[in-house]
Amino acid sequence: MTSVANTENLASLLMSRPYDDPALLAASAQVPDHAILPDVSVLKIGGQSLMDRGRAAVYPVVDELVEAKRTHRLLIGTGGGTRARHVYSLAADLGMPTGVLSEVGSAVAGQNAQMLGYLMARHGVPVVGPSAFGVLALHLAESGAAIFGGMPPYDIWQRVPHEGVIPPYRTDAGCYLVAETYGCRRMVFVKDEDGLYTANPKNDRSATLIPRATVDELVELDLPDLVVERPLLELMRHARHVREIQVVNGLRPGLIRRALDGEHVGTIITAA
Ligand code: ADP
Ligand code: MG
Repeated sequence: MTSVANTENLASLLMSRPYDDPALLAASAQVPDHAILPDVSVLKIGGQSLMDRGRAAVYPVVDELVEAKRTHRLLIGTGGGTRARHVYSLAADLGMPTGVLSEVGSAVAGQNAQMLGYLMARHGVPVVGPSAFGVLALHLAESGAAIFGGMPPYDIWQRVPHEGVIPPYRTDAGCYLVAETYGCRRMVFVKDEDGLYTANPKNDRSATLIPRATVDELVELDLPDLVVERPLLELMRHARHVREIQVVNGLRPGLIRRALDGEHVGTIITAA
């Protein structure tokens, strides 16, 4: 079907059918998805796993990011970490709903973005909030990188979880969704472990590294704890662009760069 015919077909279906009509959905999928920033890589710099470790962990990561942006275009999202956990406990104790927890957690990821931004300011790297994403292309062209707070800006519109009040879509999801929406080349999670283990290696010394897994395998394994937010697996299932992520250890020098170059240096999780 030509593009014009398809557009007419979709337009007429949209005028006459419900939004979940199968023919309408199929017609809306006819045109290949346009990758907006296909040569950009998204990195998530962990909150608890890296930022909370302070100078000893963060300065070497900053050096790596500065070096990497010479040859890669980078969108750098930040996690929240321990301060986010604290504010969630306080807000939950005060009886606040998920949407409010999402708002206050977002502020913490934003603080980490601000601090990382000031460390990278001399290298020309700006910090952008959601309202400034429209000028990302300019920042990337100008300085090769931009930093953002990783929390998705659902704020009070955050989806309410099955149980409790903790926002289900936090900074792993937020960073991933930026990569997916912009059709980016890679999504790399920079944390403090060598990848995904069979259990949290911090409490279980018998845990072993899983170098590669599919989303289906992980759902099947139903591990007690994951190195990434569990709802990310569901998001990956529906991905049009970013069907692979890698989790790497940011405490080991050189791995960020190697992951950006496409090397397998941590755990690779694929959608299929
Ligand atoms: P971030 O700093 O990006 O928010 P988190 O602290 O939320 O990262 O997640 C990383 C942590 O997840 C690791 O430090 C590790 O202790 C923990 N973790 C839990 N389950 C696993 C697992 N199965 N494999 C590896 N790490 C795990
Ligand atoms: Mg986390």
